[in-house]
Amino acid sequence: LVARMRPFGTTIFAEMSALAVRTGAVNLGQGFPDTDGPQEMLDAAAAAIHDGRNQYPPGPGIPELRAAISAHQKRFWGLDYDPDGEVLVTAGATEAVAAAILALCEPGDEVVCFEPYYDSYAASIALAGAVRRPVTLRPGADGRYAVDPDELRAAFGPRTRMVLLNSPHNPTGTVFTRAELALVAELCQAHDVYAVTDEVYEHLVFTDAATPHVPLATLPGMRERTLRISSAGKTFSCTGWKIGWASGPRPLVSAVLRVKQFLTFVNGSPFQPAVALALGLPDDYFDGFRAGLQAQRDLLVAGLRDAGFGVLVPEGTYFVTADITPLGGTDGVEFCRSLPERAGVVAVPTQVFYDHEDAGRRLVRFAFCKRPAVLEEAVARLRKN
Ligand code: PMP
Ligand code: GLN
Repeated sequence: LVARMRPFGTTIFAEMSALAVRTGAVNLGQGFPDTDGPQEMLDAAAAAIHDGRNQYPPGPGIPELRAAISAHQKRFWGLDYDPDGEVLVTAGATEAVAAAILALCEPGDEVVCFEPYYDSYAASIALAGAVRRPVTLRPGADGRYAVDPDELRAAFGPRTRMVLLNSPHNPTGTVFTRAELALVAELCQAHDVYAVTDEVYEHLVFTDAATPHVPLATLPGMRERTLRISSAGKTFSCTGWKIGWASGPRPLVSAVLRVKQFLTFVNGSPFQPAVALALGLPDDYFDGFRAGLQAQRDLLVAGLRDAGFGVLVPEGTYFVTADITPLGGTDGVEFCRSLPERAGVVAVPTQVFYDHEDAGRRLVRFAFCKRPAVLEEAVARLRKN
C-alpha cells in the first residue's frame, strides 16, 4: 500500500456495521435509512431495467437527469445551471468530492475543511497529494457547533487551493449561518480559491435551525468559483444507488469530468431516470421527508437525554452527537467498541473525524434515519444501561 494511504484503515462505518451484525445490536452507527424511498422512484428504476436501460449511459449523465438536477436547483435555491455542460452525474457525492479534489489540487496544495469531517475527505485529499487544513467546529453554550472566525481566517494562506464545505454538516448537524458563509465567501475571494460544497443533506434542515439552508454558490461572487455537490442517497433514501452530481461553471465541471471518466467512466444507468423522476416530485415529498426526520430526531434526542447523555441537538442532517462525560465516559472509541455488548446499540465515535482528536474524544454520533420503533428500542436499551 502506498505511503499516502497507510494512515487510513477500514472506514469506521464498515467496522461499526460489522460489529452491529456480529452482536445483533441496533445499528445507529452508519447513516443509512431502514425504509425505501418514494414508490414511484423505485418503480421507475425497475421499469428502466426491464426496458433495457442497462448499458453505459452518456459520460456526463443522461440528459433527462441533468435537466432534472438543473430544474431542482432552480426550484429550491434559485440557482441556474445549464444541464449541458454545467451539470455532471457522478457515482455518489463521494466520487464527485474525490474527482473534484483530484481535478483541482496539485500536490502540496492546501484544502481548508471543517472538522469533524466526513471520512472520505481526508482520504481524497491524501490521494491527490494535497494537505488538509482543518478548522474545528466547536459547540457553544447553546449547543450549536460554530465556526471560530479567527481560526477560519488563519487557515487560509498562499498554498490554499480550495475550501471543502459540508453544510448541513455531518456529523455535527450544524447548518452554516449566513454570517459563517459570508466569511467563507470573503476568504475564497480574497485568496482566489475554489469552493467545493457537499450539500447532500440540503433537504434536511429542521424548522428550528438558526438559518435555512443557503448554498454557498448563491452568495455574491461565489457561483463562478463554486462546485456544488449533492446526491440522491439521502434525499430519496437510496444510499446504495450511488447517484450523485456536481454543478458549477463549465471549466470546473469539465475538469471534474476529465477525472471522473477515468475513475468510473459512468455509473448507475437504470437509476438515473428514476432519480430524474424523484427530483421532480412535488414540494410535499420534500416537506414530508424533513418532517419525518425531525420527529425521529426529537424522539432520539429525548431518549438520549433520558439515558444521561449530554445531547447536542442538530439543526440538520440525520445525525445527533452526544457527550459521554455525564455517563462517566472519557473516550468515545472505547465507549463505542463496548456499547454493543453493554447495551445492544451501535454508535460511531466522533473522534475519528478529527485531526485534533482531543476536540472529539468524548463525543459519539447516533443516526436517526431509522423507523421510530427502532429508535424506541435503541432508547429503551440505552436507558436500561
Ligand atoms: N458527504 C457526506 C457529508 C455524507 O454524509 C455522505 C453520506 N454518508 C456522503 C457525502 C456520501 O454520499 P454518496 O453516498 O452520495 O456518495
Ligand atoms: N454517510 C454515511 C455516514 O456518515 C455512511 C457513509 C459510509 O458508510 N461511507 O454514516
